Amino acid sequence: MIKYISPIDTHVHFRWKEYEKFQYNGMNFMQLGFRDARAVGLSGVIEMPNPVPQLTTITNIADRIALADKYKGEIYHGIYGGTTEDMGQVTSMVLLAKDSLERNGRINGIKIYHCHSTGNMGITDLGKQSDIWKIIGDMQFTGVVANHLEDEKKYTGDFDPANPITHSLRQNPESELIQLERQLRNAVDNGFQGIFYIAHPSNPETIDYALSMENKIPFKIVKEMTWHHMFLNTEDYAIHENRVKMNPPLRPPQMQQRNLEHVLAGNVDFIGTDHAPHPIIYVDEDGNEKGKDCKNPSSGIPAIPFYPKGIELLRKHKIKEIVLENILFRNANNVFNPGLKSQLAEVEYNPELWEAYGYNPFSRVDGTV
Ligand SMILES: [Zn+2]
Repeated sequence: MIKYISPIDTHVHFRWKEYEKFQYNGMNFMQLGFRDARAVGLSGVIEMPNPVPQLTTITNIADRIALADKYKGEIYHGIYGGTTEDMGQVTSMVLLAKDSLERNGRINGIKIYHCHSTGNMGITDLGKQSDIWKIIGDMQFTGVVANHLEDEKKYTGDFDPANPITHSLRQNPESELIQLERQLRNAVDNGFQGIFYIAHPSNPETIDYALSMENKIPFKIVKEMTWHHMFLNTEDYAIHENRVKMNPPLRPPQMQQRNLEHVLAGNVDFIGTDHAPHPIIYVDEDGNEKGKDCKNPSSGIPAIPFYPKGIELLRKHKIKEIVLENILFRNANNVFNPGLKSQLAEVEYNPELWEAYGYNPFSRVDGTV
C-alpha cells in the first residue's frame, strides 16, 4: 500500500461526443476517468474545455456538469471555461467565471489555447490574443487563467508519422518559451489581476523564466507539471511510437531530468496529469479514422493510473513530504478554492487500469516492462 494526501488533478480531458461510440466494459472515457480517479485516491479533477461540444457556452457547461454528476461519486469535478475568437463569447465566459468564483461554483478558471491542439480551439492571431487579455483585465477577473503555451509560427519542419520524434522536433521547446513571454507581456499590458497558470510546461527553461519573472509582475504565476514531462522522454518513442505523441511533446532526457529537478526543488505548484485518452482506432460516422494508431495520430495519453507509481518514484528521488503534499493537493485547493478537506489516500499501483486504453505509456518507468 502507498499512502499520500488525496490529490487534486488540475488538468484532465474526459472526452465526450467525439468518441460517443467508444466503450470499455460498458464505460465511456468520463466513467473510466472517474474509475481511475477513485482507484488512485484523487479528491478532485478539473476538466479542460475542448471536448465535443466545447465547454464555451453556459448550456454545454451545464450539460457537462450534469453528466459528471452521474459518475463522479465523492470526487470533486470542476471545469475551465473555454475561450473562442468571438469577443462576445469571451466576455460572457469571464462573467460566468467571475460569478462562479463568487459563489464557489464549478467553473474554476478560464482556459486559453494560444495554438491549436485537440479540438482546434487555438487563438493564434496576435491581435485577438491581446484582445482577450484586455477583456479579462478590464473586467477585473481575479481567478485562474490557464494557458496552453506553444507558438505555431515557431514550429520547424514537418511531422512524419513514420518517424514519431519529428513531432518533438517540430513543436520545439523554444516555441513554448516564446509564447510564455508574449502572453505574460499581454497580461501585464492589459492590467491582469488574476492567477496566470502555465499548463504542461515541457521545457525547463519555461519554468526558469517564470521563476525569474515572479517578482517583476503584479500578479501570481503558477506552474503545473505533468507526470510525462518529468518521467518520460524522447526515448519512449522507441517503445510506444506515436502512442506517446502529445502537446507539448516529449523532450530529450536532459530536459526531462531538469523538469524533474524543478519538481523536487518545489519550483512547480501542481501535478496536473493532462490525462487525455484516445481510442487506439476509432471510425466516426463519416468513415474517418481517428485515434492513436491511425494515419494522423491523435495527441494525448492516459495518465491518471500513474499516480501511485509516480509518487513512489518522487519519494525515491527524496522529494520532501511537504513539497509533495503542496503539489498534490494544497496549492490546488488554495488556488482553485474547491473547498476540499485534506484526506489520506491508501492505494496500490494497479497496472491493469491501462488495459482500458490499450497501452501503458509509462511501461518503461513503472517496472512492468
Ligand atoms: Zn491538456
